[in-house]
Amino acid sequence: MTATSSKPAVSVNGTSYQWPKRPVVVVCIDGGDPAYLRQFLQEGAIPNIARFMKEGFSVVADGTVPSFTCPNNMSIITGTPASKHGISGNFYLDTRTGEAVVMTGPELLRGDTIITRFAEAGAKVVSITAKDKLRKQLGKNLDVSKGHVSFSSEFASKCTLKENGIENVLGFVGAPQPDMYSMELSLFVLDAGIKLLEQSHRDIMYLSLTDWVQHKYAPHESEARRFYQEIDKRFGRLVELGAIVALTADHGMNDKSDANGKPKVIWLQDILDRKFGKGDTKVICPITDAFVAHHGALGGFVRVWCRGKATPQQIIEEIRGLPGLESVLDKETACKVHDLPPDREGDVVVISTADVCVGASEADHDLSGLEGHRLRTHGGVSEAKVPFILSAPLNDSYKLKAGAATLKSYQIFDFAINGVAH
Ligand SMILES: [Zn+2]
Repeated sequence: MTATSSKPAVSVNGTSYQWPKRPVVVVCIDGGDPAYLRQFLQEGAIPNIARFMKEGFSVVADGTVPSFTCPNNMSIITGTPASKHGISGNFYLDTRTGEAVVMTGPELLRGDTIITRFAEAGAKVVSITAKDKLRKQLGKNLDVSKGHVSFSSEFASKCTLKENGIENVLGFVGAPQPDMYSMELSLFVLDAGIKLLEQSHRDIMYLSLTDWVQHKYAPHESEARRFYQEIDKRFGRLVELGAIVALTADHGMNDKSDANGKPKVIWLQDILDRKFGKGDTKVICPITDAFVAHHGALGGFVRVWCRGKATPQQIIEEIRGLPGLESVLDKETACKVHDLPPDREGDVVVISTADVCVGASEADHDLSGLEGHRLRTHGGVSEAKVPFILSAPLNDSYKLKAGAATLKSYQIFDFAINGVAH
């Protein structure tokens, strides 16, 4: 292992990170609701995670609200809340054009990523994500020509040295191109991380999985168990290779169907259109991305923009108290309560309860991709509790820090780098 202990600390977005003496691997188990861990710990199905929790450190932390993939991955990789990094959803409304804008461009991410600042300081870093939509933001300003690696398993077969810092990835990992809707898409991310660590020393790795399994299978279902057994084995291997392994999730997951398996949805745009007229308000579902088959673009958090006569106050009065809604907030309150960037916030924020989701117009959501499965999704406060697990115990000062307040998932790099004995 490289003797790197004498290198100076690296400052990123106001937090100082010491130079890690052992490889630090942070894994985002997409959709990794604490309920899955409870189930499989009880069954004894995940011995490596069980050992981390016993010998290392484990709490349930607060993720970023809205509890969606992009905002939380960016919180983790920058070590900051959404109010700082600016990525508060997968989509927001450009009020000048009235168009929904996808928020995955690196130019929309404010501040630096932890891996890029370490790379600039001379560390060897790796970022691998399941879905390509996250890759560019995670790799913002990362110069892959300097021996760093940044790619997605979605496009593993298309990697080039110029774009990704690695090529022939399928041959390197020894696996076929995984399907977009499969658990293999996530396992490939971990297998690639393991291969890279076997090949040479890496200081920091970020491995971000996909939540296809959790959208489709509840904790009691055998496919969910199989997935957790597979990822558990790989976490064990990473520790064998000398890494500090840190596990968190971008969000949890809740079942939002009724007893007959029918999704429980509040069609908010339809309600507002009936009251205020078509075109007067615009509901944006920030969970939307190019791959919505497993959730039909339905989540627990939507934004409403006023485009005509209706005022935020009138909208709030119309919908507050509807069964299935947990909170209806004006922009200022939403930004304050959930630490969100005001310039990308809607005029009204609507959050559903754990068992209900919110959509726009019924006609605009295609639920055929559920193929008879119950709707499981996320986005609200009820899906913002996530695991926060380290494979090694905390040092004394971080024990105090952990005891002082509920941890945020965006502190995971801080704890994995500064909080354990390396
Ligand atoms: Zn996710």
